[in-house]
Amino acid sequence: MELEKLIRDVPNFPKEGIIFKDITTLLKDSTGLNATINALYDLAKEKGITKVAGIESRGFILGGALAQKLNAGFVPIRKPKKLPAETISASYELEYGTDKIEIHKDAIVPGDKVLLHDDLLATGGTMEAAVKLIEQLGGEVVQISFIIELDFLKGKEKLKNYEVHSLIHYQEE
Ligand code: AMP
Repeated sequence: MELEKLIRDVPNFPKEGIIFKDITTLLKDSTGLNATINALYDLAKEKGITKVAGIESRGFILGGALAQKLNAGFVPIRKPKKLPAETISASYELEYGTDKIEIHKDAIVPGDKVLLHDDLLATGGTMEAAVKLIEQLGGEVVQISFIIELDFLKGKEKLKNYEVHSLIHYQEE
């Protein structure tokens, strides 16, 4: 199935010059949703994964489905001030300024084998920060998966020591 056909390009969202890759058109298609979950599951099923960590907010959707299929736990990595208990945080660079993500301190225990998941890899800053959070808590990042990768932004270079998979690649904007 050609998943790429189910992704909607929305020009100039959330700001001028960005082409937003909208996955809601894929999510609402039952065949596309099922094919996406199964493809990501096949990549991860032999890895002994104990936790799937998803990045707010679109990483929660398939992250939860993957955790259930892998018989693993699910861990949310969230924007600042959303998680109620004790957290650690990591900052990353944006085009203008910095941003932060957080994880509960007790979400990962040493020895956990973690699959990190988000909908899209752009510059890689968000995922690089997420890797730091998992490792700081003693988890091992055994795989990183995305639905979409924007190859031309070279985000993979920030993740070169890890196994990274994306189902759909865009070579240019
Ligand atoms: P980055 O840290 O640059 O890799 O950005 C990745 C995060 O930003 C992901 O959580 C994506 O959901 C979001 N993102 C960045 N660029 C786009 C885009 N063109 N379309 C949709 N989401 C994007």
